[in-house]
Amino acid sequence: MTQNSQEHEPHGFGVSAETLAPTPLDVRVLSRQLGRPVRDVVEIPARCVCGNPLVAATAPRLANGTPFPTVFYLAHPVITQAASRLEAAGLMYEMTDSVASDPELAAAYEAAHRNYLAERERIRVASGTDPVPEIEGISAGGMPERVKCLHAVLGHTLSVGTGINPFGDQTLRSIRQWWTPEQCACDPSWRDDPAAGNQS
Ligand SMILES: [Zn+2]
Repeated sequence: MTQNSQEHEPHGFGVSAETLAPTPLDVRVLSRQLGRPVRDVVEIPARCVCGNPLVAATAPRLANGTPFPTVFYLAHPVITQAASRLEAAGLMYEMTDSVASDPELAAAYEAAHRNYLAERERIRVASGTDPVPEIEGISAGGMPERVKCLHAVLGHTLSVGTGINPFGDQTLRSIRQWWTPEQCACDPSWRDDPAAGNQS
């Protein structure tokens, strides 16, 4: 929207300053990935090697007025399913225990929490959204004391790069058997244009 005034240097997977803005194709792919019409997307902070979105950055208040703390929303179904498998195995309990027992890790996770809030504030301003007091100081995924949602911490890592969120990074390493950033696992039909009648 305001690319000229934008000084933000993206570090998310597969993106550059030129590919942050969502295109109509991105919105279509995201809607197919999530199985519902997607709205209020401000940026595509992480992309597959094929160019498809991995994560949607959403304004912290949706058009219908609902506060929305999860600014980095993990959309790619292969990745979300992989994270769900790890959650089913209880990985987040193990992670939460390690926050409690490892002060260095706890400090890194606290810094990740602050980064998340700063990124959300940047997205809020970029989207022209008024402040959202309902979620002030509240990030996502259980940060900074607990790990409740691997999708949230992994969405964060994919959107800001590794080295910021230790549990997003760990989740990314742990899903390697199902998804890696180097390889496209997209469904080609996500890009089909219904208006062109080329759906298989
Ligand atoms: Zn792909």
